[in-house]
Amino acid sequence: MKNKKILISGASIAGPTLAYWLNRYGFNVTIIERAPELRLGGQNIDVKGPAEKIAIQMGIEKKIREKNTTEMGQRFVTKQNKLIAEFSKESALSMTQELEILRGDLVQILYDSTIADVNYIFGDYITNLKEHESGIAVTFSSGKNTSFDLLLIAEGIGSSTRKIAFRKQPTFKFLGLYTAYLTIAKAPSDSQWSRWCNAEKGIVYLLRPDNYGSTRASITFTALEHEYTGLSIEEQKNVLVKRISGSGFESERLVEEIQKSKDLYFDRISQVNSPEWSEGRVAMIGDAAYCATPIAGKGTDLAMAGAYILAGELFTSDNYQQAFENYENKMRPYVSKCQKLPPGIPKIVYPQSKLGLRILNTVISIVGSKPTKWIMGFFGADRKKIKTEIELPDYTLMRQVVSN
Ligand SMILES: Cc1cc2nc3c(=O)[nH]c(=O)nc-3n(C[C@H](O)[C@H](O)[C@H](O)COP(=O)(O)OP(=O)(O)OC[C@H]3O[C@@H](n4cnc5c(N)ncnc54)[C@H](O)[C@@H]3O)c2cc1C
Repeated sequence: MKNKKILISGASIAGPTLAYWLNRYGFNVTIIERAPELRLGGQNIDVKGPAEKIAIQMGIEKKIREKNTTEMGQRFVTKQNKLIAEFSKESALSMTQELEILRGDLVQILYDSTIADVNYIFGDYITNLKEHESGIAVTFSSGKNTSFDLLLIAEGIGSSTRKIAFRKQPTFKFLGLYTAYLTIAKAPSDSQWSRWCNAEKGIVYLLRPDNYGSTRASITFTALEHEYTGLSIEEQKNVLVKRISGSGFESERLVEEIQKSKDLYFDRISQVNSPEWSEGRVAMIGDAAYCATPIAGKGTDLAMAGAYILAGELFTSDNYQQAFENYENKMRPYVSKCQKLPPGIPKIVYPQSKLGLRILNTVISIVGSKPTKWIMGFFGADRKKIKTEIELPDYTLMRQVVSN
């Protein structure tokens, strides 16, 4: 493959994983990130299945284990904070995984493992693209112009370069939910167990311990698709405060924390379905191309598997067109599987009425019953069952076989 000078846009999980593998295969890689520094916010994510296999091959598994969030399992509580059911980490029904890490810690580990070999540029983004015979000319918001052989977009769900590079835009499948993540001070009611509380009016609270002595909160609730779009951070805070005030559980504590939060992340929960993942010399990976949403619990798997396969195909194919085609053919079936959500989401797990809530809590309290296992599948327990869902070829071996 002759096209060696590559620009990746987005430095979160997909971008640096892709950079790692491309660098290992001899490519010359630059990453541009719109934020002025790494964005280290977010809750626990799990490294399992393909992501775990890739992390082992990258030699970062030990570092991930060292940053374990120390969560012991999951507790379901009522809005009066009364225990309904408990699923320890070892239980097949718990959403707590073996390699549980804060999203920000994983981003930092991926950055640290690439910084020596990859050129990182922060606080800049792409404003224009022009393909020419031997490459793609990129204009940045800083006014700089540089030509690359290929551009790989890893900008997440709201990618702006996708709009510039692709004629056909993705469709967004809104799941009827908005979610907010924020770091809050640890309170006496917090422990090494996560607490899940279904409150009324379709609100779900999840408080999880982290490895820094604070607590990671998520607030997810049902809403209309465009109810809260285009808001400033202050407006987002006001909306959240209004929505959760007086809803029980620890809503008043969260109201206070929201008002002083410095890392609030608030967005719609939508899946991204892109008709094409490449156009000319540009390809997309991760949430920008195929976000499955946090509900599916596959964001890290998809981002890391997509990065591994795209890098491997670029390494072993004769040209980038063939590489992009192979990457899409290998990843599409896996993405379809990951994006398939059980029927009933969000209505069953985000009940609006007191009765719906009582039924849900009663079902969860009958630990081990069939309906409980079914409900727990929504909360992530099913993720433990599936170890490998996509084949990860040994590209170095493939390359050797082709050259011999
Ligand atoms: C701040 C933050 C917090 C998150 N918290 C959680 C969480 O708690 N739980 C969960 O399941 N998922 C969370 N996610 C999403 C999760 O990271 C992804 O679902 C998944 O890991 C796929 O990663 P990705 O690299 O494809 O995209 P993302 O993780 O979304 O990263 C995209 C990166 O591209 C950058 N970017 C965006 N636009 C541009 C541009 N035009 N030019 C250059 N760079 C750009 C962004 O700043 C970001 O660093 C969070 C994402 C972010 C950005």
